[in-house]
Amino acid sequence: MSPERQAALAARLNYYRDLGIFDFYRRATGANHEPLSIEGEAASPVPAVPAPLPIATTEAVFSPPPEEIPIARKPSATLPLIVDTPDYSSIAGKGAPALVEIREELGDCTRCKLSRTRNKIVFGDGDPQARLLFVGEGPGADEDAKGLPFVGRGGQLLNNMIHAMGLKREQVYIANIVKCRPPQNRVPEPDEAHTCFPFLERQIAAVQPEVIVALGSTAASYLLDVKKPLSALRGRIHASRGAKLIVTYHPAFLLRDPRQKKEAWADLQIAMAELGLRPAKAPSA
Ligand code: URA
Repeated sequence: MSPERQAALAARLNYYRDLGIFDFYRRATGANHEPLSIEGEAASPVPAVPAPLPIATTEAVFSPPPEEIPIARKPSATLPLIVDTPDYSSIAGKGAPALVEIREELGDCTRCKLSRTRNKIVFGDGDPQARLLFVGEGPGADEDAKGLPFVGRGGQLLNNMIHAMGLKREQVYIANIVKCRPPQNRVPEPDEAHTCFPFLERQIAAVQPEVIVALGSTAASYLLDVKKPLSALRGRIHASRGAKLIVTYHPAFLLRDPRQKKEAWADLQIAMAELGLRPAKAPSA
């Protein structure tokens, strides 16, 4: 194969990798159907002709959105919802006006040491009456600069995840465990998270979502008040703050390890089933 063809093929394979596609099969020509593993490139012969393109056997998760994938579960009608919050009945489901009140009370917060190094407070963003609420860990550099959650690379992936669920970003609410960027993007310390958490709890009460998706183990452990590995929390429905809570990987982790996008998609499908959502259709070519 010429160096130009090799370079073109490598670029194409990287493109598929970015989409979360890792396993390829030769087109069915009646001859060889052996899987061609990218990971084992040295051992597996690269096809001599780069076109026609390999057929992906896994759906391109999140970008572009997966095509019709059947929703595997039915909504769980009988889930016991644990009343595990302080009494927020005065703001429960009040949406926008309650969020304004909470934001005013937060003010130019100096309640914890993160206030000393932050630029902007990242309060939260989205539909004050969203049925679905995402919780991340804490703002990164882009969020700290803009004052909005998930606007960096992780945010782009979260947007794709939301679109794959058949929703627009404006239809969900997004917040974090802490509202100020931890220095060097470190994990928020317990005193910081505990200081900030009542504001998140009140935001959740105001929005009153049906489903909360905890993005990563920091969000999961504070919302569920447990210290367990993510693997022990994923794949099922928990109860938190009057909502059904689903745990999945943090987008930053998925950017580092795109193979886990399939697992994350399975988690999101649990949330979708609870909300009666169908996956977005891939745009027609
Ligand atoms: N990571 C998070 O956990 N939250 C953000 O808002 C951005 C990145």
